[in-house]
Amino acid sequence: MLGHDGERAHLKTKESNPATKMPDLQPGHIQQRRVRCGKPRCRCARGERHLAYYHVWHDGGRRFQRYVRRSQIDNLRAACQAHRQLQARLRVGRAEYQRTLARARELFRMLSR
Ligand SMILES: [Zn+2]
Repeated sequence: MLGHDGERAHLKTKESNPATKMPDLQPGHIQQRRVRCGKPRCRCARGERHLAYYHVWHDGGRRFQRYVRRSQIDNLRAACQAHRQLQARLRVGRAEYQRTLARARELFRMLSR
């Protein structure tokens, strides 16, 4: 997806202006993972791994992922949910359009007999 970082900058602008705050649209979902930070003396080296969050999405058959800071999680979750809801509404709209088209064709066949 193009302009992903641009979207993030956009999100920041909106955060600073709560009056116009609306969730952005982001595809994909947030994935929680247990990770090692790499410091040899850290507790994560002994198996107690850190929780890390990644934004995972697909575009053009490719999988993308990006680390998400804790402070961004709520906004991103809302943006992913908004995107899912919009996609669901678009699917319903397309299905209704197809049904209307089928009815119109049927009517046309009846009238042109
Ligand atoms: Zn660690």
